[in-house]
Amino acid sequence: MYAAIQKYRDQLGIPLELIANRNLPVYAEAEHLEVADIGKNGQQYLLTQAAAHAWQELKAAATTDAVDIFIISAFRSFERQAELIQTRLAIGIPIAEVLTVLAPPGCSEHHTGRAVDICTPGVPPALEVFEQTEAFSWLSKHANQFGFFLSFPRDNRYGYLYEPWHWCFHANPDLIHPASQVP
Ligand SMILES: [Zn+2]
Repeated sequence: MYAAIQKYRDQLGIPLELIANRNLPVYAEAEHLEVADIGKNGQQYLLTQAAAHAWQELKAAATTDAVDIFIISAFRSFERQAELIQTRLAIGIPIAEVLTVLAPPGCSEHHTGRAVDICTPGVPPALEVFEQTEAFSWLSKHANQFGFFLSFPRDNRYGYLYEPWHWCFHANPDLIHPASQVP
């Protein structure tokens, strides 16, 4: 797995120290995925079977409470993560800055097929303002019941910006990765 990651690190010019200094975890790409949801544009969002089912139950409960939430990102391959980083590098954003909002390939929770980025009508995707929405209040109260936990709270130990929209499914919450906890 490390060899696969190194290829991308070299391509993108990601300093090894940066990964080491931030203690970024390394994940495997999920192999068994299913369609968890379909976006308005027809895009399929893939998750592991357990995460997909949990998402569908969570979404149904939100709908019952008149809360409108939808996925804007689910499973991502190493390759896709590298493309997202490349797009930002191409417009002149320095790699260190890109990596405060995007994990290096191999280090994104989205590789696991258990993480979702969630949005709600009326706010732009993946911005901190999501925290002020009814959807975020609802998730804060109920998402844990469905196994979804906020991965990157404010001042998280991995140096990512606060991501109120990014939630990860954990079948066994007792084993949640330390990334999910405020240091
Ligand atoms: Zn995310």
